[in-house]
Amino acid sequence: MSSLYHNTFKDMMNDVVAAGSCCECGSCVLVCPHNVIEYIDGKPKQTAKESAAFDYCGISEGVGCDVCASVCPRLWPREQHLRDVQFGNDRGYEGVFGVYRHIFVARTRRDDILQRAQDGGIVTALLAWAREAGEIDGAVVSAVGENDDPCFPTPKVMTEVEEIKSSASSWYTYCPNNLALAEAEEKDLKQVAFVGVPCQITPLSKMTYVDPSILLAAKKKPQIVSRQRGFMKGYAERLSFNVGLFCTEVFRPELMTERIEQQMGIPLTEVSKFNVKGEVLIYKKDGDIARIPLEEAMHEYQRPECKHCGDFSAELADIACGGVGTDQATIVVLRTQRGEDIWRKFEAAGLVDVWPIQENKKAWNILQRLAQRQHDRVPVTTLRNGTIPDLPQYSPFEEHQFSLAQIAHTAKSAEDIEAALVAAYAGGPRPLEVIGYMAGQPIPGDPGEPPPGEKRKLPPPPRPDQGGAPPGWTPAA
Ligand SMILES: Cc1cc2nc3c(=O)[nH]c(=O)nc-3n(C[C@H](O)[C@H](O)[C@H](O)COP(=O)(O)OP(=O)(O)OC[C@H]3O[C@@H](n4cnc5c(N)ncnc54)[C@H](O)[C@@H]3O)c2cc1C
Ligand code: SF4
Ligand code: SF4
Repeated sequence: MSSLYHNTFKDMMNDVVAAGSCCECGSCVLVCPHNVIEYIDGKPKQTAKESAAFDYCGISEGVGCDVCASVCPRLWPREQHLRDVQFGNDRGYEGVFGVYRHIFVARTRRDDILQRAQDGGIVTALLAWAREAGEIDGAVVSAVGENDDPCFPTPKVMTEVEEIKSSASSWYTYCPNNLALAEAEEKDLKQVAFVGVPCQITPLSKMTYVDPSILLAAKKKPQIVSRQRGFMKGYAERLSFNVGLFCTEVFRPELMTERIEQQMGIPLTEVSKFNVKGEVLIYKKDGDIARIPLEEAMHEYQRPECKHCGDFSAELADIACGGVGTDQATIVVLRTQRGEDIWRKFEAAGLVDVWPIQENKKAWNILQRLAQRQHDRVPVTTLRNGTIPDLPQYSPFEEHQFSLAQIAHTAKSAEDIEAALVAAYAGGPRPLEVIGYMAGQPIPGDPGEPPPGEKRKLPPPPRPDQGGAPPGWTPAA
């Protein structure tokens, strides 16, 4: 299989949902232009025709659609296939944890945020500053609100700075943040920041980069192409930037209800926050900290769908953040130009302390080990889920050519095809052939892939002038 295959709703319902791989991001439900699927018990469910099979969509099999499958993070193209299309002309360095322009460690100077935050409070401080500075008009986050069950966050769109601050800290059950983009659209927000775990960032990248020529079909009128294009592309077009959180797994809800509440006797209303640092730490409102060994929590309560995820460090995010190997500080990875631009303005506001990554070798090493381990976790198969290692990079131009070749075999006239193309690209430019670009330069000193059977040797942390510090960083005098 290659990019010359258009995944369908049927593929998604069988290869992803029935196969137990669906990560519950809800992106398929978000982008469905025809109200065929709903988000029920964390999965997409076909509700348009009760008498039909779970994998039947009349639109997909009639005029054609499959917008849902085009954004699903578990189907081709996956993270490793989108590197060139996303970073091709935006070169930084490339390591086992993805492409980056700068990597460093940071902490907010705002004490009210740091007190609530998970690590260095960088995610919340960045969002709060961006809202104050008018860079965004809202942020999609996970938070436990007044109407939510304690310890179970729901996706939220926050438009006030104080609301954003209240969303600091991490919750370890899955929260489908992508669904909140529907609310951002209802509110007609035009500059949205999005925070999510890696499997929530990948759909955003697919909305941006998958070529809309996949919408061309023999029986489809331009108005339908235009509607489908709006759902496929529209949500990502509202985003100013996104922040991806490092993530190895989330836990099943039973960790909260069965283990913490019933077995440990801690009412969930008494829990103020969690952290995972070699063990699961449960911070109680009375100041006590209860603990569960990490191995035990993972063995009994790790969500099985996470075993299908190969992306630890949000490899397609504008900015990726995590806390491995740090103490009250956030590892910050600036990956895209968009991410670097917003960071430069944020840092210039004087609200953060920063350190080069060379000063935290432990964080650098753990990041690489965990990124490698997560890559290895995704089974290599011959299915069209895109996990074959030597698959080519996704190419919008190739997709475009393939779509044109397919439609050429139908009775559609040249004028009708052109009208459909205008609708698919919303009057904008069509993809050009790009030859031989590369996602990033290798990290200096990287010994690269080890011979079969040998352990990977880690490269040294990059120097500040090799991307190992924030943009424009100079050592203190
Ligand atoms: C489920 C999960 C697993 C993680 N696993 C790791 C890990 O293995 N290693 C590691 O280094 N880092 C991990 N992180 C990231 C880490 O916990 C911090 O979020 C990160 O270091 C940023 O810290 P901060 O203080 O800058 O963020 P803060 O300022 O505290 O902001 C945290 C942000 O996380 C968002 N958030 C909270 N819960 C969720 C959720 N369930 N889903 C999506 N977004 C959420 C909030 O909306 C908030 O915007 C994980 C995060 C989550 C949510
Ligand atoms: S194929 Fe289109 S109409 Fe059918 S479920 Fe997917 S997005 Fe909805
Ligand atoms: S888009 Fe997300 S929720 Fe939908 S099938 Fe794929 S992984 Fe599951």
